[in-house]
Amino acid sequence: MVQDLGAVRERAPAQPPSRPARKKVPAAVAWVDCDRCSGCEVCIAFCPVDCIGLVRDAEMPTINPTCHVVVDECIGCKICVEQCPWDAIEMVRYDARAAAAVAAAGEPA
Ligand code: SF4
Ligand code: SF4
Repeated sequence: MVQDLGAVRERAPAQPPSRPARKKVPAAVAWVDCDRCSGCEVCIAFCPVDCIGLVRDAEMPTINPTCHVVVDECIGCKICVEQCPWDAIEMVRYDARAAAAVAAAGEPA
């Protein structure tokens, strides 16, 4: 799952620069299975830190947009997991070292 971090960050919408830093890094963060996501936006409405965005795949513009989590801002509250009507979100281990390596490389694996 860690190898998906770069792809999520790459495709997630830009966040405002004024967003405050997370106080504590969670053990696990939310991850959206795009094959299950309907794009209903329920998770976006419930996320308390507004770190989920609807993203259209540039390579498949006719496919409905799906949600992506900005993992560096997710606080691991699991609210989105509980609210998603399609069971499209799961919590995955957050490996800060892997995330940093992906960021340093610049491009997702
Ligand atoms: S609530 Fe679930 S199905 Fe709806 S947009 Fe979010 S991840 Fe996709
Ligand atoms: S776990 Fe909480 S903070 Fe993370 S994306 Fe879901 S609702 Fe947002």
